[in-house]
Amino acid sequence: MNDASVAFDVAVVGGGPAGLAAAIALVQAGANTALIARRAPYADNRTTALLGGSIDFLHELGIWSQCQDKAAPLQTMRLVDDTGRLIRAPEVRFSCQEIGLDAFGYNIENSALIAALEQRAAELSRLTRFDDEAETVSPGDTMVTVRTGNGETRSARLLIGADGRQSLCREAAGITVRRRELNQAALTFNISHSRSHCGISTEFHTQHGPCVFVPLHGERCSVVWVGLPKEAERLSLLSDDELSEAAEKQSHSILGRVRVEGGRHLFPLAIERPAQFARHRVALVGEAAHVVPPIGAQGLNMGLRDAGDIAVIVREALASGEDPGAPEILSRYGWARRGDIMTRTLAIDWANRSLLNDFLPLQSLRAAGLHLICL
Ligand SMILES: Cc1cc2nc3c(=O)[nH]c(=O)nc-3n(C[C@H](O)[C@H](O)[C@H](O)COP(=O)(O)OP(=O)(O)OC[C@H]3O[C@@H](n4cnc5c(N)ncnc54)[C@H](O)[C@@H]3O)c2cc1C
Repeated sequence: MNDASVAFDVAVVGGGPAGLAAAIALVQAGANTALIARRAPYADNRTTALLGGSIDFLHELGIWSQCQDKAAPLQTMRLVDDTGRLIRAPEVRFSCQEIGLDAFGYNIENSALIAALEQRAAELSRLTRFDDEAETVSPGDTMVTVRTGNGETRSARLLIGADGRQSLCREAAGITVRRRELNQAALTFNISHSRSHCGISTEFHTQHGPCVFVPLHGERCSVVWVGLPKEAERLSLLSDDELSEAAEKQSHSILGRVRVEGGRHLFPLAIERPAQFARHRVALVGEAAHVVPPIGAQGLNMGLRDAGDIAVIVREALASGEDPGAPEILSRYGWARRGDIMTRTLAIDWANRSLLNDFLPLQSLRAAGLHLICL
């Protein structure tokens, strides 16, 4: 299968969680698929709260059994106004039992999720892996051609751009992107703690963004601490002891004694919206198609729905003898994704802005809105 003349039904560029999930789903949909992605250890300590249909989708991909014992159920969502304002919003709690569920979702370290996706991808004989980077992408009338770093060329009728924020595939398809920088950054790190989290994800609203403690397997949590870029940077430079103390203070000691684990990462926050989700034989998935702040844990959940939707559309196209990269197939994908991505991006943007607003009734509306987008 290393013959350059072989044309694939679909080629996926990018081996992050969205790209790996898309590649597996496409093979399972019957597409002869290439994956152009460097194998590299996952580089940061982000975790993902997998919500709604994401667990069902991971079941369908055959990887949930690998993830289940590494993921923590999220049974209660607690929102606490910690702005220090004179009049504060009341604390809000949503329990999964109120709506007859065992859990709202499951939080898992991205490194564990990627390992399970990589293992599944390696089992699929119809998935051809090129451990390389796409250097140039050239969409043509009947094929897209990708030249890789080592000078080889690969072609496919449809190209999936799963190559993240600075997407080369998106640029090659001539899709413009609107980017709005937020004056916020997120610091991520994991902690162990002496008191049980009891499956409760707690979000403290501070004046410059949320600080969320999300349960991990065992007596551990992942922390996403959003604030002004300078403050987030200051926190990131603290010693382990100092950051442990700061996190314990921010959590109001609800988790008892806190100890930060090794590794922390800073993410400048922005909202990105491409003008189209597919064009010129290229369909975008994951952060190539949408970037949102980490509020309401939506980013990768949307990315997994991108992967699921493109696989269904390609399966139907192949079954009816259509070209999976044809303009009508791409517009089917665009229509399938537009509503979900646009409404959630707007809802997250609004939830973020309302948090920074002093108008109290907005806080209650925000809590209700966050609850809805997490279902
Ligand atoms: C602080 C924080 C917390 C978050 N928490 C959550 C959460 O709880 N729930 C949730 O759903 N989402 C969450 N998200 C969002 C989620 O992390 C992202 O949506 C997700 O990681 C994006 O995955 P991706 O595969 O689209 O992109 P990436 O992970 O960026 O992967 C893109 C891949 O493409 C590769 N690549 C780039 N260019 C090329 C090329 N030319 N050739 C080949 N490969 C290439 C890169 O090396 C990379 O491996 C969070 C985000 C942040 C910042």
